[in-house]
Amino acid sequence: MTARIIDGKAVARKLRAEYAERIAGLKTHYGVLPGIAVILVGENPASEVYVRNKIAACKDTGIHSELYRLPADTPEATLMARIDALNADPAVHGILVQLPLPPQISLPDVLERIAPDKDVDGFHLYNVGGLVTGNTVFPPCTPFGVQKLLEHEKVEIEGRNVVVVGASNIVGKPMALMLMQQDATVCICHKKTRDLGQFTLLADILVVAAGVPGLIVPQMVKTGAVVIDVGINRLPDGRLVGDVDFEGVRKKASMITPVPGGVGPMTITMLLHNTLVSAERAISAGR
Ligand code: NAP
Repeated sequence: MTARIIDGKAVARKLRAEYAERIAGLKTHYGVLPGIAVILVGENPASEVYVRNKIAACKDTGIHSELYRLPADTPEATLMARIDALNADPAVHGILVQLPLPPQISLPDVLERIAPDKDVDGFHLYNVGGLVTGNTVFPPCTPFGVQKLLEHEKVEIEGRNVVVVGASNIVGKPMALMLMQQDATVCICHKKTRDLGQFTLLADILVVAAGVPGLIVPQMVKTGAVVIDVGINRLPDGRLVGDVDFEGVRKKASMITPVPGGVGPMTITMLLHNTLVSAERAISAGR
């Protein structure tokens, strides 16, 4: 068996074109431009790249973006005041604080300060809680991107065995909850899981988000499984790879995402989606 490669770039392109049309429609019919505010504290080089990519994607899709750069020694109160102002600004439909934050700033406090109905990253406790009940306002972008990929590829979820490797708050845990909401039987693995392969072998759908290159080898994958590799790892030789031995596992899986070009392009696409939906909700609510 040789797996079909899921082309995340192509799916992202298709979705972004749909969102661009909806955004243009909001402008024509309501005179509203969806707007996102991005706050970058400090000068982390990786964060600079992520923010640049997010802003470029917004521009391409027609979303208005504002970037607020704050120095690395910004006191927490200054950041909170900026968030408060953006919470109150009707032209801003989404607020994103780029992570990581410098140590003098409390991450949980910042995430809770963002108004839940502008929390397009989906990290506010209100939105996290909604994942449990199935009522979240904004699903977090990376697992949401995986869900959209599976939907696009018409992968049946209901009743299937799903194994999620990785239990972080931003990828693994929300991914598990989202697939549980779709009636999958979900198992979640982490660093302390004993004999990882014993679990991954049961997966009809295997989602890997550990940040460990080569973690998943063919012997750990069931024949015909759908394998989604969320990992992004830079090797010493400069190559970008996921957590899955792509060449080996593609001979056993039925579908597989590559790295790069799989889940990555979907993450920013879901940020665009959430910002658009936030603007549509604001219009419906007369805000
Ligand atoms: P994280 O916060 O470091 O969490 C990693 C998770 O994997 C933890 O739950 C950890 O277990 C688990 N883990 C680590 N080593 C393991 C092992 N050997 N066996 C089983 N589980 C193991 O990372 P993250 O933010 O979730 O990101 C995970 C990966 O996805 C990274 O490569 C990151 O770059 C990538 N990522 C990609 C996108 C994208 O857009 N494609 C977005 C976000 C993240 P413990 O809980 O026990 O520590």
